[in-house]
Amino acid sequence: MEGIGYSSPWSKGLLPQAALPRLEHHLTADVVVVGAGITGITTAYLLARSGKKVVVLEKNTITSGDTNFTTAFLSYAIDLPFTVLVKKYGKSTAQKIVQALRDTVAGTESLSRREAINCDFRSTPLSLLAADVRGEETIANEAVAAHALGLPAFMLRQKFGQRYFHGVRYEENAAFNPIAYLRTLVKRAQSLGVQFFEHSEMVKYAETAQGVMCETASGKVLAKFLVVATHGNRDFAAYLRPIQTYVIAAHVPSGTLPLALLVDTAQPYHYLRVDQLGDHDRIIVGGEDRDLATIGDPLPRYDALEAYLHTIIGIAAFTISHRFSGLVYESSDGLPLIGPRHAGSHVLLATGFGGDGMVFGTLAAHLNRDIILGRANPLLPHFLPSRFVKKKGFWHGIIRSLQREKTVR
Ligand SMILES: Cc1cc2nc3c(=O)[nH]c(=O)nc-3n(C[C@H](O)[C@H](O)[C@H](O)COP(=O)(O)OP(=O)(O)OC[C@H]3O[C@@H](n4cnc5c(N)ncnc54)[C@H](O)[C@@H]3O)c2cc1C
Repeated sequence: MEGIGYSSPWSKGLLPQAALPRLEHHLTADVVVVGAGITGITTAYLLARSGKKVVVLEKNTITSGDTNFTTAFLSYAIDLPFTVLVKKYGKSTAQKIVQALRDTVAGTESLSRREAINCDFRSTPLSLLAADVRGEETIANEAVAAHALGLPAFMLRQKFGQRYFHGVRYEENAAFNPIAYLRTLVKRAQSLGVQFFEHSEMVKYAETAQGVMCETASGKVLAKFLVVATHGNRDFAAYLRPIQTYVIAAHVPSGTLPLALLVDTAQPYHYLRVDQLGDHDRIIVGGEDRDLATIGDPLPRYDALEAYLHTIIGIAAFTISHRFSGLVYESSDGLPLIGPRHAGSHVLLATGFGGDGMVFGTLAAHLNRDIILGRANPLLPHFLPSRFVKKKGFWHGIIRSLQREKTVR
């Protein structure tokens, strides 16, 4: 693996992204969006389509955050198992959440068609495979819950590479190239008047009667709303568990494995994606997740992923092209935090997506757009950040923050 840097494959073959200016003056806008990953860019684009004047501030460069280190499964089969979703929230709410996720997958495909975005968007099933006998029970329970929720789910026993698996296949999911998708979305948003600024870190904000004042080292934006699309969120860190996850991408001869989007029931789980790239195929394998406090040396994580790939493809040859890693933030109850940071606030959050930020980041953009446009959305109460603070009280949050800080150090 000598010579392989830590980078993702998504920008390969794309034209370089033109550099964007730094914020160096005082602007006013309807909305200032902070963070230019899938969440911030989608939010800016949707708001601009609704006629809002939008400014985006990014502390590094466009799409340089976790969106660049994703494996880009776009799926309603989220990390929170359907059995848990139903148990915790009841069938009716679980159905609403899952339907919103399905609409998000379908909506992303429509958007990429409408805007003629060339991002290798591929509608495809996602299969959850049993890693062992215990996993077979999990699979069976998940299939029952998925059916109860009205999802297109089918039990399967299939040979994949060298191994036979029991699993459940969820139809109508998708995979795409997130960077190709977002670079074009940035262009479309710019043509609708969105102003993007790079190397413009928001260092503080203040909510006043005039609006939200957002400051960088060299400029300011006064807006009616601030959308914080920074992935992590310090104010709610007590409810967000940071998990480091690792990925390798390998080139293999065409046809080594069928096209696929897979997750298994191992703990921590593996996720695997197969794409056709003309004269060869690419297998992306991820997993080996570790709590941020216990990550240690990353090399054994990549070795373990290679060993896992061998268990699937046997002795077939492969060449590692990329290794990369990033953080996901898992919320205490498995659902993201979307909407006003507290009741009545014009500061809207979008965080806690776990390993499902493609679908949840996009859904968050729609929900925050609806809030800004004054549209009611029945889903929102399930995602409000205040659900944590309300339940446990202010001091609980502070104590958990201190505890977490201690652990991370
Ligand atoms: C290895 C890996 C695999 C994954 N696979 C999948 C998958 O298959 N499917 C899926 O759905 N999800 C997946 N995820 C999760 C998903 O990638 C993330 O949840 C998603 O990309 C988060 O997008 P975002 O726009 O919210 O955040 P980011 O893409 O991280 O964007 C946030 C941006 O905010 C900027 N920023 C931060 N603070 C400031 C500030 N103060 N001022 C200005 N800018 C700031 C950052 O520089 C960054 O560019 C994966 C994640 C990882 C790490």
